[in-house]
Amino acid sequence: MLWKEILIRYGELTTKGRNRKDFIQQLKRNIKYIFSDLGSLTIRAERDRMHIELNNEEQFEVLMEKLPRVFGIQSFSPVAICEKDMGSIQQLAQKIMDRYKDQQITFKVEVHRSDKSFPYQTYDIQKAVGGYLLKNNPNLSVDVKNPDVELRVEIRKEAAYLMSEVIYGAGGMPVGSNGKTLLLLSGGIDSPVAGYLMMKRGVRIDAIHFYSPPYTSEQSLQKVKDLANELTKFGSTIRLHVIPFTELQVLIKDTVPPEMLMTTTRRIMMKIADKVREEIGALALVTGESLGQVASQTLESLTAINAVTNTPILRPLISFDKLEIIKIAQQIGTYEISIKPYEDCCTIFTPANPKTKPKIERVVHFESQTDFDEYIERAVKNREIYTFPEKQQTADKFKHLL
Ligand code: ATP
Ligand code: MG
Repeated sequence: MLWKEILIRYGELTTKGRNRKDFIQQLKRNIKYIFSDLGSLTIRAERDRMHIELNNEEQFEVLMEKLPRVFGIQSFSPVAICEKDMGSIQQLAQKIMDRYKDQQITFKVEVHRSDKSFPYQTYDIQKAVGGYLLKNNPNLSVDVKNPDVELRVEIRKEAAYLMSEVIYGAGGMPVGSNGKTLLLLSGGIDSPVAGYLMMKRGVRIDAIHFYSPPYTSEQSLQKVKDLANELTKFGSTIRLHVIPFTELQVLIKDTVPPEMLMTTTRRIMMKIADKVREEIGALALVTGESLGQVASQTLESLTAINAVTNTPILRPLISFDKLEIIKIAQQIGTYEISIKPYEDCCTIFTPANPKTKPKIERVVHFESQTDFDEYIERAVKNREIYTFPEKQQTADKFKHLL
């Protein structure tokens, strides 16, 4: 096999001074986790880059396919390795350029010589490798400014490393390097995208979903499970907390005026989410709200919803247009799941004219006439917890026996 390892260049973490070591370790753990099916990978993490050893073709193919969605990676390259002698380097360069032999292309040789004991100077290596390739390959010509292929030759202490491709990574920071949050996950288009954007910033997520059977169906819950599962491909397991919400929704409907229904429902959801957040030790809540998108997402509504807690509520989509959100949902693979037509709990009792500018005093006044706390406690206590990806579930089921 031509390629012996994959070289990874870090994303933003290179700028993070003191925490850099933790970031790098987290990235290494995430890669090991995402590719655990490939057997034990040998990963060498250095200060400014990481190397994954390749043992077979399958590893190479799976890594090339999935690395582009691992957060914390700026770019990566397959690398060929040989002994540090000019003949071997020229032959390996030829093997790499053989891959382009059916095309007329321009190239340049870029040399980095960190092993100063190597008997050839940078310029000499460039000339020897470039000249050799030109002589043997009529399809190649040199363009130093804007080549189709940049063949990079690195002379290091251990060996010579050659590469010709730089593939862009997902950027961002390794999931888990920036703490944990709780995502309010509906079956809609927005909240999975919000979760994805937080993961991109290195945040680990648990998800919480409010479920109101029989008003919302088993399929609507399955859809949310599928979404949680889909998000795990960005580098971590996700736990989903499913809250039995029917009892509370009926109670809210029976006790507050119709135009307040939506605001109170949202406030109670937020209270429950905040309690779960506290239990699991997460630091913030995340929603898929976007300013002005619907009645519950005006500044007045958001203020009324926010008022139930001091916990930061992160809304990564607040300034996004729906079309921008849809585009991301399509790119990350959640869109097709989200558009399946099942009811969300929030739509089942929605009045025709919800208040877009709820008065918080009036909301608080109506809510104060009912004791919701006991119901809230019960909903939190009776939640069901699922872990994704699915293969983890068996382990969870039997955890109490271990
Ligand atoms: P989404 O597409 O995420 O459902 P939306 O534009 O449909 O968003 P709403 O239905 O008003 O807007 O929901 C706003 C936010 O409230 C959602 O993004 C989500 O974070 C949260 N949310 C709504 N319904 C639920 C639910 N049943 N369980 C958990 N969170 C929910
Ligand atoms: Mg929704």
